[in-house]
Amino acid sequence: MTERTLAIVKPDGVAKNLVGEVVRRFEAAGLRVVALKMVRLDRREAEGFYHVHKERPFFPSLVDFMISGPIVPMVLEGEDAIARTRRLMGATDPAKADPGTIRRDHAASIEKNIVHGSDSPATAGFEIGYFFNALEIPPR
Ligand code: ATP
Ligand code: MG
Repeated sequence: MTERTLAIVKPDGVAKNLVGEVVRRFEAAGLRVVALKMVRLDRREAEGFYHVHKERPFFPSLVDFMISGPIVPMVLEGEDAIARTRRLMGATDPAKADPGTIRRDHAASIEKNIVHGSDSPATAGFEIGYFFNALEIPPR
């Protein structure tokens, strides 16, 4: 099924000049970028985006990290886009990520792990709407 998902180049990826590299990997795998921008979140916005993690011990640090610099959210479209994007990213902890994944090749730690990708259709719907309004997303 053709799906859309939200991916983000996190602040560490932008700081390490990996915006192009991350987009290149998604495109090379056949995913299509249908929306993309650069934004800097404030604390409230980052907390809202990661609200499902608000009880986790790493939440305050995660929020600090996500507001430490600009990020590049994008909407990717393609067959099975949600799972494929997550496979290209690799496991949350780069030490556990498969060889050849974005996180294995570029992430510094379980927190500073370069990319985000939606984990389900419901999450993708919420996350795409968090960053892009109707005028910024092409009709399907
Ligand atoms: P994302 O949601 O960013 O795509 P994910 O789905 O692989 O990543 P989640 O469990 O949703 O992982 O965690 C969200 C983010 O919180 C992680 O990508 C990472 O930046 C941070 N994080 C997760 N677990 C830890 C941890 N144990 N310590 C520090 N930071 C963590
Ligand atoms: Mg997640």
